[in-house]
Amino acid sequence: MNELIAAIKQAQRITFLTGAGVSTHSGIPDYRSKTGLYAGAANPEYLLSHENLTQHPQAFYEFVTKRMYFPAARPNLIHQEIAALCNEKGTLVTQNVDGLDKQAGNQHVIEFHGNLYDLYCQKCGQAVSYEDFAQDYHHQIDGGIIRPHIVLYGESIASEILMKSAQAIANADLLLIVGTSFRVYPFAQLIQYRQAETPIYAINRESIAAPASVRLIQDDALTVFEEIRKGLETC
Ligand SMILES: [Zn+2]
Repeated sequence: MNELIAAIKQAQRITFLTGAGVSTHSGIPDYRSKTGLYAGAANPEYLLSHENLTQHPQAFYEFVTKRMYFPAARPNLIHQEIAALCNEKGTLVTQNVDGLDKQAGNQHVIEFHGNLYDLYCQKCGQAVSYEDFAQDYHHQIDGGIIRPHIVLYGESIASEILMKSAQAIANADLLLIVGTSFRVYPFAQLIQYRQAETPIYAINRESIAAPASVRLIQDDALTVFEEIRKGLETC
């Protein structure tokens, strides 16, 4: 822990890689846990696919609005602490689509899989508010089908996002993986762009799929970030 706090203090460019374990503390369920987003759904990956959106927009809409949208959720201490560090000297690449990092004021966020609240009509391309989408998935103006700008199964990550993310990893002199088992591709592959000498720490409750050189703090992210906050305050 002390080693990590010292590394954060010393670093000039920190890049964070985060996942669902950061937002569970804001009441947003993890994708794959027993009580998570996918629990009880027969084929969640299909429900969240490009094909389902195209072929069965109603089923897609019901799944995402019931299981993924938590508009009352607010950023927690982890989002806030990461935001403070990013605004000072870092970048965040997050897999989360809940928008909580931006809500926490983070000005250097790459939303790798997009943002649920970034909604648009597929017919005319116009941006649509969440309030309108919550009423109906048809665009009021032209009846077009509204979708969130997130990456669905069967869709690929925009090359601009891939490039920016790879750059953030290459530029970092400290990498911090938080709240992700690091098993989703291509997100987990990003780490290959790091400089050989860049230290990597991971904070996660479970062990993660990452190279042996990663120093894992196997604990709850909220507990660890409370320690980090205290440690940084006393410098
Ligand atoms: Zn439209």
